[in-house]
Amino acid sequence: MTRSYKHMETSVIHEGYDTKEMLGSLTPPLFQTSTYTFESAEQGERRFAGEEDGYIYSRLGNPTVTILEERIAALENGERGLAFSSGMAAISAVLIALTKANDHVLCSSGLYGCTFGLLTMMKEKYNITHDFSSMGTEEAIRSKIKPETVCIYVETPINPTMRLIDLEMVARVAKENDIVVVVDNTFASPYLQNPLDLGCDIVLHSATKYIGGHGDVIAGLAVGKKDLLDEIAMTTLKDIGGVIAPFDAWLLLRGLKTLPVRMERHCTNAEEIVKRLKAHPNVSTVYYPNDESHPDYPIMKKQMRRGGGVISFSLKGTKKDAQAFLNHLSFLKIAVSLGDTETLIEHPATMTHAVVPEESREKMGITDQLIRLSVGLEAWQDIWADLEQALNQIKINSDAYSKA
Ligand SMILES: *Cc1c(COP(=O)(O)O)cnc(C)c1O
Repeated sequence: MTRSYKHMETSVIHEGYDTKEMLGSLTPPLFQTSTYTFESAEQGERRFAGEEDGYIYSRLGNPTVTILEERIAALENGERGLAFSSGMAAISAVLIALTKANDHVLCSSGLYGCTFGLLTMMKEKYNITHDFSSMGTEEAIRSKIKPETVCIYVETPINPTMRLIDLEMVARVAKENDIVVVVDNTFASPYLQNPLDLGCDIVLHSATKYIGGHGDVIAGLAVGKKDLLDEIAMTTLKDIGGVIAPFDAWLLLRGLKTLPVRMERHCTNAEEIVKRLKAHPNVSTVYYPNDESHPDYPIMKKQMRRGGGVISFSLKGTKKDAQAFLNHLSFLKIAVSLGDTETLIEHPATMTHAVVPEESREKMGITDQLIRLSVGLEAWQDIWADLEQALNQIKINSDAYSKA
C-alpha cells in the first residue's frame, strides 16, 4: 500500500476505509463474527480454492481487521500489513517464518525481554542461534555475520537505554549478504520513524503501546513486502493462530486516528522533562535521543522525526534510593508498558529486565539506579512537579553513591 494521502495526519484517519462500502458508517464497523456464510456449497468450494475473494472464517480474515492491516501498511509504506493478538505474537510469527533449524539471527545488543526469551527457546529447540552486536559501524555488523545468518533483528531506540541504531546502514550491509532486516519499531511508532523507507524489510509493532495509545489493548502489527507477509499470513499467523480480536482491531483504528497529535505532545512533554531532570542534583545521567549530548543524536536527526516519549535516567544513590523515589510519587503510576495517556514509571533492573542475568544487565547499562519513564499526555508542569517532589525527598547516602 502506498499512502493515498500526502500527510500522515490524514492517512491515520482515512487510509484503508471507504464509508460507501459500509452503509455510510463514519467509523469502521466492528465485525464481531467468527465465521461467514456461503450462498451455496459451490461458493464455499470456490472460496476455499482461492478462486473467489471473500471471507471464510475470522482466523483467516475479518473486515475490521483488514481495514487496520491496510491502514498500518500505508503508514509504514509497506505492501502488506498483518495484525496479531500481541506484539509477541507478531514477533514470534515473523521470526519462526524467517528461520529454519540451524540458522542464525544477529540482534541489536538490547532486546525486549520476551524476544530474548523466544530466541533462547528457538536455540534450545531448533539450534537457531543468535548473537548480539552494538551495530555501531558496518564492520561491527559484518564481523558477526555467518554463512547461516538469515535475519538481522533490530530495536531502535533500544529499551531502556535509548541507544539508536543507524537503520539505513544496517539495511545496506544486510543487502550485500541477502539477509532480511526486521525492526521492532514500537518505541518510535510509525509517526516518528519508518524503517521500510530506510531499506529494512519487515517492521514490527507492539500496538499495545503508542498505536493503541490508551492502555486498553494488547496487540501486534507487522508490515513488509507482499510475498513475505503473504507467506506469514498463510503459515505462522494462520496455523499458530495469534490473530487479533475484531474489537481490539477496532480499538487500534480509533487509537491510530490521534497518533500524530499524541506523539507530538508526548515528545514536547518529554523534552520539557529532560531539561529539568538534567538540572536536578539527584539525577546523574539522562538518556533521551533528542538531546544534543546523547551519543546517537546524529542518528536521531537522520532517521527520526523527534525523540519520542520515553526517557531513562540514573539517580544518584542505590537501588533503595531508586525504589524510595518511586514510592514518593503521588499521581504518576508505577507500571511497566509505555505509550499510554498516563505517565508510567518503572525500575527496569527489578521489573522489565529482572530476567536478564545481572552481568548482562550491567553490560547493557541497566543499573540498579536506572529509571524508565514513559511520559504521558498530562500537563508537563504537573508531571514535573510530581517527579521533582519525589526527587527532593530522596536523601542520597553519599558513601553508598561513591561506591556505586
Ligand atoms: C511491549 C513490547 C513488545 C511486546 O509486545 P506485547 O504487545 O506486550 O506482546 C515487544 N517489543 C517492544 C519494544 C515492546 O515495548
